[in-house]
Amino acid sequence: MFRRVAFRCIAGCSETYPLDQAIYRCPQCQNLLEVAHDLEPLKQRSGAEWRQLFDARIGRVAWPGTSGVWTKKEWICPELDDEAIVSLGEGATPLLPLQRFASKLGVGELWLKQCGASHTGSFKDLGMTVLVSVVQQAIRSGRSIRAVACASTGDTSASLAAYAAAAGIACIVILPRGKVTRAQLVQPLACGAHVLALDTDFDGCMHIVQRLAVEAGVYLANSMNSLRLEGQKTVAIEIVEQLGWRVPDFVIIPGGNLGNVSALGAGFDMMEALGTITKRPRIVVAQAEAANPLYLAYKNAWKFVPVAARTTLASAIQIGNPVSIEKAIAALKKYDGIVEQASESELAKNAARADLQGLFTCPHTGVALAALEKLVQKKVIAKNHSAVVISTANGLKFTDFKIGYQQGTLAGVAHAQPNLLAELPHDYDAVRRKVDEITS
Ligand SMILES: *Cc1c(COP(=O)(O)O)cnc(C)c1O
Ligand SMILES: [Zn+2]
Repeated sequence: MFRRVAFRCIAGCSETYPLDQAIYRCPQCQNLLEVAHDLEPLKQRSGAEWRQLFDARIGRVAWPGTSGVWTKKEWICPELDDEAIVSLGEGATPLLPLQRFASKLGVGELWLKQCGASHTGSFKDLGMTVLVSVVQQAIRSGRSIRAVACASTGDTSASLAAYAAAAGIACIVILPRGKVTRAQLVQPLACGAHVLALDTDFDGCMHIVQRLAVEAGVYLANSMNSLRLEGQKTVAIEIVEQLGWRVPDFVIIPGGNLGNVSALGAGFDMMEALGTITKRPRIVVAQAEAANPLYLAYKNAWKFVPVAARTTLASAIQIGNPVSIEKAIAALKKYDGIVEQASESELAKNAARADLQGLFTCPHTGVALAALEKLVQKKVIAKNHSAVVISTANGLKFTDFKIGYQQGTLAGVAHAQPNLLAELPHDYDAVRRKVDEITS
């Protein structure tokens, strides 16, 4: 059924595996798999023709035309039955120009890719639509899959639960107890997922779900399943398309389990292979200082050692042993990569600064903005450069972080400009005096 795309080992073992097989690692060498596309049929269109085709699909509403993923179906999963697709209108998110921010900082051009403006409020939707659609097709063709399952720092489970519910597939999510926000916790509960909270961290949950998925019937939905990355790679394509097929000089992305940076690289790879672009950006991964194994590897000639992740406000990237480390390092080597880190204060300050320009950024986006600021200070990014910062989630999922900042109660964060509620009596003169004070 799937001939033009197949799983293959990232270490180059010769065997390939059909996309609808539940397989996550190479049976020969235990490395991760990636999805390999037969590019020959795709090369029948020129780069210019692909650009035109994708541009022509923007703004159509006919299903699944509102999806930023399925409008590029030929590059994602060409042989998937349209009837198997489970879409919740993911992707096609805004690319906001941040000109005032850029001028202040000393960057030529700056954009924020608002991946949190998606169905469940994070970029995870881009990958889940592909994974759950392939599972749907596998079930239809008689494969026995009783449930989909994931370990999560919050956003993966919210997304998987929504897509599984839309498809009518049972969903099990495994979370570190007390380490996800209330909004992230209620999303899978509302969508009817079975939520298991364990007394461990994300890395501990990941270990358990990998063991579960070895047994038949439980299908693993974490990003070590490279189907996820096939959807997530569209973020690169969307950015370039939204810039009129211009490639920015830098793309900055917060990283935890490091699937997303691998996907970003894969998106640029595919555009280059199919002639829609000729330039490569530099890719920057931003990590929280409290969970910085990739940063440490970068500083040590890419020698990777797992760490125990400490608590960070950027809870979705509180990961010490990233599953996709090898893919990420390969992508960074190819894209002249840089890794930066941000302290709790730096991430909070940058998120707050962005909010004062009308945004409402999640802490992970704060980490990425802090990395941008540091690279400007180090004169790596300058006035003649363009940069895109990937905002990974919606700030509305992180209201405790927002409130804590304003109240000055965040651990390790000195807040510069608290904006406190003015509580007044129901009295015109009191309100008048307050307004005079504000406007004087
Ligand atoms: C998942 C997630 C990340 C990290 O993505 P990885 O692929 O794990 O590196 C960053 N930010 C948010 C908000 C996330 O949900
Ligand atoms: Zn192998």
